Amino acid sequence: MEFAKPLPSYLVTRYHGWKATSYEENQGWYRRLATEGQRPRAMVISCCDSRVHVTSIFGADQGEFFIHRNIANLVPPYAPDGDHHGTSAAVEYAVTALKVSHLIVLGHSQCGGVQGCIDMCKGNAPQLEEKTSFVGRWMEILKPKFGGVADIDDPVEQARQFERQAVVASLENLMTFPFIESAVKAGQLSLHGLWTDIGEGGLECYDPKTGAFEAV
Ligand SMILES: [Zn+2]
Repeated sequence: MEFAKPLPSYLVTRYHGWKATSYEENQGWYRRLATEGQRPRAMVISCCDSRVHVTSIFGADQGEFFIHRNIANLVPPYAPDGDHHGTSAAVEYAVTALKVSHLIVLGHSQCGGVQGCIDMCKGNAPQLEEKTSFVGRWMEILKPKFGGVADIDDPVEQARQFERQAVVASLENLMTFPFIESAVKAGQLSLHGLWTDIGEGGLECYDPKTGAFEAV
């Protein structure tokens, strides 16, 4: 595979720094994680966006969160059609093998994926309509929710509301997985919807009673 190159030097330097400090000081902990295996209590589904840093927000260490990241923190509906389903595979493993107690969907402000979906819904993104656009096809998961925010005039507020709806859509789709529905009904698993404001460091939690997101 002649296309793969050595690691850039700045990353090599950073790695050796980590090995000599963080790893060295916690070697026992790392070795225990390696031999005992992982037992995370929570799975987190967040966006790929580099500004979303869930381990930082919750001060989480290695072994605490089983994390899956994808464009716009979306979960597709349950579809056992024999295709490649990365998100569904991660969810299945977390719930049926690791038996996590909490499944958290974390949305965020200024989400490029959600903005792309808005652009598609308004007919402003022909490139995303192409069959070859993986982002466009992926964001179709969220399209049915656009009706709920279509009347919001302010584009910034519309995007923020749609980002929250991406979290709600994922929670709804999670419940279409039979093993999730049964774990939730048995009281073994709880679902949580969060949205974080990157610039302000804010965190909101979806309240199923009101359907609104409330500050944590
Ligand atoms: Zn995003």
